[in-house]
Amino acid sequence: MPEISERTRKHTCHAEGCAKRVPPRFLMCAPHWYMVPNELQAEVYRHYRPGQEIDKQPSPEYLQAARAVIEAVATAGPHSSFVIRHS
Ligand SMILES: [Zn+2]
Repeated sequence: MPEISERTRKHTCHAEGCAKRVPPRFLMCAPHWYMVPNELQAEVYRHYRPGQEIDKQPSPEYLQAARAVIEAVATAGPHSSFVIRHS
């Protein structure tokens, strides 16, 4: 998987296979973001730091939450419902 920082630079949706351009502070385009379980969305918001997309220094917690979101979308596919797994 490409580094998050590399993909953030291009300002495109982080969902696998999606090249839609989004504002840098958003992780995903709206359709993908709405596929994300609320508890994972909350994790991303909780660890988001204003300006991190400018200085490219997101916290490890944010990156971990972002990876979980990307994985959740990749696992779910466009027409499946979510099964939330706790590791
Ligand atoms: Zn997308």
